[in-house]
Amino acid sequence: MKKIKLSEYKGIVFDLDDTLIDRKEAYIKVFSTLYHEDDLFQKKFSFDDAMSFFWSLSPNNSIDVKNAYIEIKKTIPDFKFNYQDFYEYYYENLVKNIKPYTGVKKFLDKLIEKKINFGIVTNGGKYQYEKVKNTGLEGKYNFLIASEIFGSSKPNIEIYLETLRQLKLTDKDVENILFIGDNPYTDIKGAQRIGFKTVWIKMDGSNYPDNLSPPNYIIESFRELEI
Ligand SMILES: [Mg+2]
Repeated sequence: MKKIKLSEYKGIVFDLDDTLIDRKEAYIKVFSTLYHEDDLFQKKFSFDDAMSFFWSLSPNNSIDVKNAYIEIKKTIPDFKFNYQDFYEYYYENLVKNIKPYTGVKKFLDKLIEKKINFGIVTNGGKYQYEKVKNTGLEGKYNFLIASEIFGSSKPNIEIYLETLRQLKLTDKDVENILFIGDNPYTDIKGAQRIGFKTVWIKMDGSNYPDNLSPPNYIIESFRELEI
């Protein structure tokens, strides 16, 4: 397959979770801990069944915490947390457990050194900044947009228009901008909507959904990107 060379583009945009940092491992840690500290889950599920249940709350590697909470309450009516406490428990533990992918810090340093015009666009709120801080990626980008703070989330067009502004580019440049992310329904769909070129990070041998138009490139890790 053709090599993807980032310096050939006017602008580069990365998703954060499962693109630059290992949300998947952190998610497993958060929910395996919850399972082991809560008898109600242990009575209801074997460990493996519990993890399948927890993964079902996060389709396409993204979670709607409110929906997840509703599903948990349906399954475990006496679940110990109210919604707000669960929201904080989930994000605080995710932030605590999240790690950058190996090599990502050097990779971003190199992008800065080579004066690549790039930023991070992520769905989520203030915890996204904490994840960046905890993984040592703080400041290693030209800009970061967190959807809940900006006020619009991927795949809505507004956040991509803001991305274009932050890249200091215009609608004439959209074909020279590359968006890299793991979620077909948010990252790729939204980027296609504005006209960016797209790179899908394929996780765990999953296939691109048939009902969506395919990305320009498919890779398994940011390490396949050349600078
Ligand atoms: Mg992601």
